Amino acid sequence: MTDAVVIGAGPNGLVAANVLADAGWSVEVLEAQDEPGGAVRSDRGVHPDFVSDVFSAFYPMAAASPVLARLALDREGLRWTHAPRVVAHPLPDGRCAVLDRDRRVTAAGLDAFAPGDGAAWEDLCRVWDRLREDLLGTLFTPFPPVRSGVRLAARLRGVGGLRLARSMLLPVRRLAEEEFTGDGGRLLLAGNALHADLAPESACSGGFGWLMSMLGQTYGFPVPVGGAGELTAALVRRLGRRGIAVRCGERVTEVVVRGGRAVGVVTASGGVVAARRAVLADVTAPQLYRDLVGEDRLPPRLRDDLRRFQWDWGTFKVDWALDGPIPWTAPEAASAGTVHLADGMDALTRFAAQLAMSRIPDHPFALLGQMTTTDATRSPAGTESAWAYTHVPHRVRGDAGPDALTGRWDHREQEIMADRIEREVERYAPGFRHRIRARRVLAPPTLQAADGNLYGGAINGGTTSLHQQAVFRPLPGTGRPETPVPGLYLASSSAHPGGAVHGAPGANAARAALRAGRALTTATHRHDRHPRPAHRPSSSRAPMSTPNGQPVRQPGPRRPRPPPTGRPSTDQETRHAPCRIRRRSPDTTALSGWRPATPPPTRHSPRTSRSTWPWWAAGSRA
Ligand SMILES: Cc1cc2nc3c(=O)[nH]c(=O)nc-3n(C[C@H](O)[C@H](O)[C@H](O)COP(=O)(O)OP(=O)(O)OC[C@H]3O[C@@H](n4cnc5c(N)ncnc54)[C@H](O)[C@@H]3O)c2cc1C
Repeated sequence: MTDAVVIGAGPNGLVAANVLADAGWSVEVLEAQDEPGGAVRSDRGVHPDFVSDVFSAFYPMAAASPVLARLALDREGLRWTHAPRVVAHPLPDGRCAVLDRDRRVTAAGLDAFAPGDGAAWEDLCRVWDRLREDLLGTLFTPFPPVRSGVRLAARLRGVGGLRLARSMLLPVRRLAEEEFTGDGGRLLLAGNALHADLAPESACSGGFGWLMSMLGQTYGFPVPVGGAGELTAALVRRLGRRGIAVRCGERVTEVVVRGGRAVGVVTASGGVVAARRAVLADVTAPQLYRDLVGEDRLPPRLRDDLRRFQWDWGTFKVDWALDGPIPWTAPEAASAGTVHLADGMDALTRFAAQLAMSRIPDHPFALLGQMTTTDATRSPAGTESAWAYTHVPHRVRGDAGPDALTGRWDHREQEIMADRIEREVERYAPGFRHRIRARRVLAPPTLQAADGNLYGGAINGGTTSLHQQAVFRPLPGTGRPETPVPGLYLASSSAHPGGAVHGAPGANAARAALRAGRALTTATHRHDRHPRPAHRPSSSRAPMSTPNGQPVRQPGPRRPRPPPTGRPSTDQETRHAPCRIRRRSPDTTALSGWRPATPPPTRHSPRTSRSTWPWWAAGSRA
C-alpha cells in the first residue's frame, strides 16, 4: 500500500508528490488525461513546425516561488528564457506602454506618457523592494502566514503603514489615477490586474495589478526553453528519480472514506488505490467535495458554502502558427512576450462590465503571447508561434457583439469568436491575419475536456476576488489545505494562494499531510507504550472522532493496513483489485452525520470555541 495518493498531475499535484517523495513517502499519482501537466503542457497540434503552449505560457510566479526554487528543477534540465521586453500595451494611436526588466527603462517610457510618471513608477518599485521578501513569504506559505506576516506588518509601518494598506485595497482604476497622470502607468497596472478576473473597479485589483507588475519588473515573465511542457517534464523526471511514476489515463471517481478518514480512491476503470496516510487532491474544490467525496457526506454548512463558491471567468483561446512576426503599429510591441490589447482603462471597464452582465464582449480584451519572440526554439526563424485569449461569461445571457453568440460554443460560434479576437489584433497590427498559416481554437468546453479543472474555461480554480482569498479560499474557513475529512487535502489552485503556476497549494497540502503523519506517528508510538481504552472521551478533537464517537484508527507510518477492499493486498494487487467498495453507503464511512465533538456555532450564536475545527464545517444553518 502506498503512503499517499495524489489525484491529478497538474503543477500542484506534481509539486505535492515531489515534496512527499523528498520526505520518503511512497506516492501514487493518478492523472485523468493521457499525459501529465494539467494546464502546463505544450504540443505541435497547430502546426508540426511550431511548438504551442496549450494553456499557460508565462511564469513570473514560478520564477518568484520559493517552492519551485527548492525543487531545483534546473538539475532536471529545465532552462528559462525571456523576451526582450516583458509586457507591452499598445494603443490604437501608436503609443505603447512597456514593462521592461530594467525599471529605469520602464520609467523612461512612462515619462513619455506624462512627465513625472517615471518617478511614480520607481516609487512603486521602492515599496516593492522593501516588502518583496515578506510579501512573497506571506503569499507562498500556508495560512496563516505567521512569521512572514508579522515581519510584513512591521515593514508596512516603514513604508506608509495604513496608507499603503489602503492603496493595496483600492480598485486598480483608483490606484492608477492616484499614482499616474498619463495612460502608460495606468494601463500597465490595470492590464496586469486583468490577468486575474479583477475588473478595474474591483476591491484589491490595485494591489493585484501592482503585484503582477512588480513580479514582471523583477523576475520578468519567463518561459521554459522548448515549451511549457518542459516545466512539467522536469517535475515528472524529478519524481521518476525517486521511483515514482505518474499513472495517466486514470480518472479518480471517488475518494474512499472509511471510519471518517480518507483511505484511498476509486478510479473510473474500477481500480482501487489505498493510501496509508493521505489523499491529496489536485482538483477544484467543487469537484472534490461534490463529485469525489459526495455532497451527501458533507456537513450542511459546507454544502451551503459550496453553493456560494464563485468561479473565475471562462476563457476562450486561439493558438496561431504565423508566417512572420506580428506587424504592430507600435514598434515596441514587437519585442514584448506578452501584449495586452484594449483601447484604454474605459475599454477594460466596459469589457469587465459586459462579463458581469453575462454578455460576450464585443471588443474582447486580449492577452497575447509572442512565443518565438520569447524563445527562439518555438518555431522556424522568421515565423512566430503566438496565442491570445480573452474571457467569456459562464452563463451567457447575450452577445454584446453583432453575431448573436449564445455560448453554445458549437463549431460556428467558435469560428465567429476566434474571428472576433483576430479582428481585435488586426486593429493594432494591420495585416496580422494575412500571416496566419494555421490556427487552433480552444473554447471553454474544449479547455474543460482537456483538463477537468478548467471548469467552463476558468483558469484559476475560482475567483481571485478578495471575498474568495486567504481565509475565504476556497470556502470561508481556515484558508488551509485540510478538509473536513481527515487524511484528505486540497492541493489545487482552488486552495490558498490560488491560481498561476507556483506550486504553493501543492506544497502546502503535502506539508500538512507530512505534519499530520508525524503527529500520527508520535501518537501511535505513545499508544503502543500506553494503550488507551478504545473509546475516546466525547471532547476529543473533532476530526479525530467518527460520528458515533469511535476513535479513528490511526494509520501508522509504515504499518501494513487492510486496503479499502477489506482484504490484505500488495501494491500490485491494490492497483488491479476489482472494486469491492460499497459506494457512498450510509455506514460509518459517510460523513453526512459527522459532527465535531464540541457544540458547533450556529448562525445566531457567535463563534465561541477556537477548539472547534474547522469551524466552518461545523453545524448547519438550521
Ligand atoms: C488558458 C490558460 C492560460 C493560463 N496562463 C497562465 C500563465 O501564463 N501563467 C501562469 O502562471 N498561470 C497561467 N494559467 C493558470 C495555471 O495554468 C493554473 O493556475 C495551474 O495550472 C493550476 O495548477 P493545478 O495543478 O492546480 O491544476 P491543473 O493545472 O488544472 O491540473 C489539474 C490536473 O488534475 C487532473 N484531474 C482533474 N480531475 C481529476 C480526476 N478526477 N482524476 C485524476 N486527475 C484529475 C487534470 O486532468 C489536470 O491534469 C493559465 C491557465 C489557462 C487555462
